Amino acid sequence: MADLEVDLFVIGAGSGGVRAARIAAGYGAKVAIAEEYRVGGTCVIRGCVPKKLMVYAGRFRDEFEDAAGFGWEVGETRFDWARLKANRDAEIARLERIYHSLLQGSNVETISERAVVEDANTVRLVQSGRTVRAGHILIAVGAHPTMEPPIPGGELGITSNEVFELEALPPRILVVGGGYIAVEFAGVFDGLGSRTSLLHRGDKLLRGFDEDVRDALGKAYAERGIDLRLGTTISRMDRRGGCIAVTLSDGTVIEADQVLVATGRRPNTKGLGLEKVGIELDPVGAIPVDGYSRTAVPTISAVGDVTNRANLTPVAIREGHAFADTLFGGKPTLVEHDLIPTAVFSTPEIGTVGHGEDAARRLYGEDKVVIYKAAFRPMKATLSGRSEQVLMKLVVHAETDKVLGVHVVGEHAGEMIQLAGVAMSMGATKADFDRTVAVHPTAAEELVTMR
Ligand code: NDP
Repeated sequence: MADLEVDLFVIGAGSGGVRAARIAAGYGAKVAIAEEYRVGGTCVIRGCVPKKLMVYAGRFRDEFEDAAGFGWEVGETRFDWARLKANRDAEIARLERIYHSLLQGSNVETISERAVVEDANTVRLVQSGRTVRAGHILIAVGAHPTMEPPIPGGELGITSNEVFELEALPPRILVVGGGYIAVEFAGVFDGLGSRTSLLHRGDKLLRGFDEDVRDALGKAYAERGIDLRLGTTISRMDRRGGCIAVTLSDGTVIEADQVLVATGRRPNTKGLGLEKVGIELDPVGAIPVDGYSRTAVPTISAVGDVTNRANLTPVAIREGHAFADTLFGGKPTLVEHDLIPTAVFSTPEIGTVGHGEDAARRLYGEDKVVIYKAAFRPMKATLSGRSEQVLMKLVVHAETDKVLGVHVVGEHAGEMIQLAGVAMSMGATKADFDRTVAVHPTAAEELVTMR
């Protein structure tokens, strides 16, 4: 006899799980959700939100410098890590409370402990030992930072989980990796005043992005004084006095006060009991699902990073919502994963949607792609004296005139790309962009004036 019976039991109260729980409850389902850490998940607690607040903090340095050309005398500036951390943590706690009350207001029972799958319709709550009988189980447990294969002494480093717990700004930091997280935090620490090194095994940052975007970011980071170590890996890390000595594959040793390892994330599927119900995980531990987020077991579904599709919060929310619509709302809803606008909150920022140039040429043919590109100093730089350029690039199909990709590097690129994404999801052509009247003077107008 189970201790609780529900229509839907959600494991993991992050972006995807919370959305699914609330929507399902809105359709009248009896829903419970279990969370072993903090309600809100990676994005709210130790991802997108606190990270973006730190990105804002780091960007004030540019603002102080740029102000002089506009007539401002900015006196001596001083950055207080403890104040930023306290304010940021308070904001995250506020958001967490909102998530709790949203769940409560939706009549979803929140259970603050780890839950594992017992069988196709049973969940066991690990601490209390209680069992829950569920008509359907949704796995939305997310992912965690990984360091694989392990590096000798790697435990001296921190991940994007611990970076939010640091009690002081490290004077010197080495960031390892060339993906979203590494690039974003390298920008944050550089902005806040840490001597920042960014080490990546590839010869360019952000594999998978358009090559011009990758080049623009590499150039900007080098010009900002970030110590870029490309095409290299770490052999070992050792404690040396108060710092960490990092030995690189070529024998070079870098000393740092913190080493932030951001070499990817892995789904949180270990020990979840999935194997015993017949769900076979993929090689990285992700749960294979179909377009409706259904696993091989009819009563178990999975959404978000644990499925390793597009590991982005808005995508997890979509997947969670579509799952609830499909199962409890009588509205079968597929989630498309092919035209996802995304931003990298590096400084300068990156916004991208659709295909990069090389990917488009591979897909449609070398001569079927036309490129429109502009690199320019934004208006603000005329007085600030900043030399960094904005990059705008349109990838267009030569025959259909359809815009296949939009790529922006520069201030507010994330904001711009959201709207470019609307145009692209409507199937915009280059002629549509050209027909659109420019908003002047903006940087974004370049997107509709490139000929
Ligand atoms: P990514 O997968 O984006 O990047 C991992 C990086 O680590 C890559 O540069 C990869 O190199 C490198 N790497 C992997 N394994 C090793 C290894 N053994 N040794 C050395 N380098 C290695 O992961 P992140 O952790 O940065 O981010 C995870 C995901 O979270 C992102 O892909 C994104 O989906 C999401 N995210 C989104 C954000 C946003 O929307 N702004 C912000 C942060 C995260 P290589 O390229 O050679 O494989």
